Amino acid sequence: MNRSAAPAPFAASFAEPVGSPIRELFPYLSRPGMISLAGGYPSPSLFDAEGLAQAAQQAMTQGAGTLQYGATEGQPALREALAQQAQERGMQATPADILVTTGSQQAFDLLVRVLIEPGDTVLVEVPAYPATLQALRLAQARILPIPMDAQGLQTQALAELLASLPAEQRPKLLYTVPNFSNPRGTLLAAERREALVQLAVQYGFWVVEDDPYGELCFDDPQGQPLAMPPTLRAVGERLASSGHNPVIYLSSLSKTVAPALRVGWMLADAPLLRRCTVAKQTADLCTSPLTQAVAACYLHSGRYPATVQRARREYQRRMQALVQGLSEGEHSGIRCTRPAGGMFVWAELDRSIDPQQLFDAAVAQGVVYVPGKAFYPANPDLHTLRMSFAAPEVAQIEQAVLRLRAAVKAGTPP
Ligand code: PMP
Repeated sequence: MNRSAAPAPFAASFAEPVGSPIRELFPYLSRPGMISLAGGYPSPSLFDAEGLAQAAQQAMTQGAGTLQYGATEGQPALREALAQQAQERGMQATPADILVTTGSQQAFDLLVRVLIEPGDTVLVEVPAYPATLQALRLAQARILPIPMDAQGLQTQALAELLASLPAEQRPKLLYTVPNFSNPRGTLLAAERREALVQLAVQYGFWVVEDDPYGELCFDDPQGQPLAMPPTLRAVGERLASSGHNPVIYLSSLSKTVAPALRVGWMLADAPLLRRCTVAKQTADLCTSPLTQAVAACYLHSGRYPATVQRARREYQRRMQALVQGLSEGEHSGIRCTRPAGGMFVWAELDRSIDPQQLFDAAVAQGVVYVPGKAFYPANPDLHTLRMSFAAPEVAQIEQAVLRLRAAVKAGTPP
């Protein structure tokens, strides 16, 4: 008789891995009539399907290169268009400074592989984007939270933490979404941008500036276009005297063009970019040259600015429907502030509400959101939640607000 041995074990970090808390909500979404405020999906009605169809057709006539493997760094035409986007956002960039990635999610994964060893300290603004926490946990990093307020990451708290850390616990990197953060929706104040980059220079850590939402800014309450503060990378260009810019800038076409392209990008200094390119060689060789060609044709077609402008206007309408719906009239038990852009509203529940009961009641009413727990590396504030206003139409958002109000009533003790 052949005896079979037990299978070899999984790698330690995958022994009991925790999946994405947001993707675990997917089963609720397929229930008939459910309104989802859960995922950070862009609105399907804002996809420029006609422009993308033209771009795809043009891409397919470009010859065999579109169907062949491509350079790991990315296709020249796309790198050129993305370098131009970076310049328009106030940063110095040539095509050689850009690495095209398979979504910006991959860019962060490459950075973790290149920079983080088990036990390394990583600073993360909290509440944080869950996939960042997931990637850092899998890398067995030591995650230290930096609190946020309405102005974004609290640089004073960061300075105090850095001063108190022993040398062997000095952080390798700090992760932040300065523009319309996921989940808190905040815009990092200009003076905090200076302070943050100064601390990075002083203490010698990298800053990951994750910016998929920066272009989705709303008008201010007076109806004037919002003046965006400089990117951290641009601040780094000015402050980094040694010629080494500690800021790594990530962005994506997912929220403004279409997530299905899976086109993200990294702008960083050459030594780091080179190492991320090597890491990408073993991940996927290259991002699909076909979708890169579609993206490049689309960006060169001149339709992009109008597409972004449409998204800004529509997301602002949807955001207002959600925030006003929850804030006006009878107290809803859910307190939220108006984000200045992006796709998310962060909210706090009255302490009299049981968060789990509210979630169950909301699902029963036909509306789903992401409970706040998903956004904390440890010690979550359970009386928090994230709602995305991007995908549902205004009428659905109004309906969602009514359902949330009914859920609060159902979940609150009389
Ligand atoms: N960073 C943040 C803050 C995000 O919210 C997302 C998408 N939800 C990503 C990165 C990943 O985007 P993609 O991989 O589609 O570019």
